[in-house]
This record gives sequence, C-alpha cells and structure tokens, in this order.
Amino acid sequence: MSSDLPGEPHADDADDADHHADFEDDHHEDDQVPLSPEEREDIVVDLEDLEVYRTLLEPTGIKGIVIDCPDCETIHHIGWALMQSNLRQLLDEGITGLHEPPYDPDPAEYVTWEYARGYADGVVASESAID
Ligand SMILES: [Zn+2]
Repeated sequence: MSSDLPGEPHADDADDADHHADFEDDHHEDDQVPLSPEEREDIVVDLEDLEVYRTLLEPTGIKGIVIDCPDCETIHHIGWALMQSNLRQLLDEGITGLHEPPYDPDPAEYVTWEYARGYADGVVASESAID
C-alpha cells in the first residue's frame, strides 16, 4: 500500500489539524478564559433563539444577523450558518471567529438580534392570540 497517492482526501484534514495546533500555540492559559456555567447557558439559549429566528426569517429572504461589534467598532453581517457555528465554537473552544472579513453583504438582507427577537415574539403572540 502506497501512502503518497496524489489527491488523497485527507489533505484538508491535515490542514485543519495544523491550524488548530498553531492556534493553541499562540494562546496560552492566560488568554484562554474558560466560560463560566452562566456564560455557557447564555450561549446555549442564544443558539436556541437563533434557530427559531432562522426558521422564521430565512424564508422571508433574511440571510443573517447584524452585529455591532464592540471589539472592532464595525458592523458585522453574519449569515445564519456562520452565526450558529460561531456560537458553537464559543461553547466548544471559548473563542469565536466573528471577525470575518467583510464580503460586501446587502444590509437589507440582515437584521439585528433585537429585530429578530421582536419578530419572533410577534409571530408567537399572533399565533397564541387565535381564540
Ligand atoms: Zn468584530
């Protein structure tokens, strides 16, 4: 068995492993603040909310969430899937990849967390208002 076939599908995996190794080298314990149980709880709730918002808003053409980022003082437009994976990453690793380079999003296709929450509340209210 030869292990040096070109185009082996494990190339991506090897890349990924390198990334993780590099990342851990740059982040020593004092950077790595473990999440408190309360913080983890918050993120789990956010993930559940996000799932609801996505289910309600994605069919209306909304592609994601707008975050006014205190770290870069920039508005980030984050797609649903990316937002979900960011939150999961936060849970798993205590870090987030929120600060993606902008890719020229259409602001009309993104809503704030508050808008999404209000929208979801409105839907729930109108559904429970049916007698
Ligand atoms: Zn940012």
